[in-house]
Amino acid sequence: MTKPDALKKLEAEIAGADLPLKKEANLVFGEGDPDCSVLFIGEAPGETEDQLRRPFVGRAGKLLDKCIAEIGWRREQVYITNIVKRRPPQNRDPSPEEIEAYKPYLARQIEILNPKVIATLGRFSMNYFLPFAKISRDHGKVFEIDAPPPSAAADGGGTGVPTSRLIFPLYHPAAALRATAVLDDLRSDFKKLPAVVRGEIAPPPSDFPKPDPALFKKKEPPPQQKLF
Ligand code: URA
Repeated sequence: MTKPDALKKLEAEIAGADLPLKKEANLVFGEGDPDCSVLFIGEAPGETEDQLRRPFVGRAGKLLDKCIAEIGWRREQVYITNIVKRRPPQNRDPSPEEIEAYKPYLARQIEILNPKVIATLGRFSMNYFLPFAKISRDHGKVFEIDAPPPSAAADGGGTGVPTSRLIFPLYHPAAALRATAVLDDLRSDFKKLPAVVRGEIAPPPSDFPKPDPALFKKKEPPPQQKLF
């Protein structure tokens, strides 16, 4: 199956699935070049995105387009999607349950697209891949994460499905619209993207934020009650 066909099939599957926000909002699947080098992932569609059924087409989207143009690329050359594919009411943050429900579909979308680099937009998207990362510390750095083995669902994903993926965290353009310092960081991080794609900015292993060991501490089982 070709990548466009595999994406169409996946979109139809999401449309038919019993998923959170289905009654409240339209499906915003994502758009762009199926052979993209860079996949941008935001958190969830906003009002304009919901109306037009396209990702990043409101104010934040216009800024994203500008940042893409500033490095000499076109929006049509990349692929843009979100973790949660329907708008949460009043643009509230997506809930952990919503993220969990849409997760398998995003995983398959990534497998099909098989991009060189995943550029995350904002904290939610970054923490989806890098749970221990902090946006103020880790934006503009390259991380390498283990990728799950390719599944049968990756029809059209090509032969070279990697065992790792490069993640490049960026600030969310909406945050950049609210603060000039964030906008400056977003623009300078964007300027690194072509070099990240060319593999010129490798992920230094020491750059991995170390997980907090407390998170992995097993809970002690309660002492066994004496039966006699
Ligand atoms: N913000 C997002 O995270 N995604 C969109 O598609 C639009 C705004």
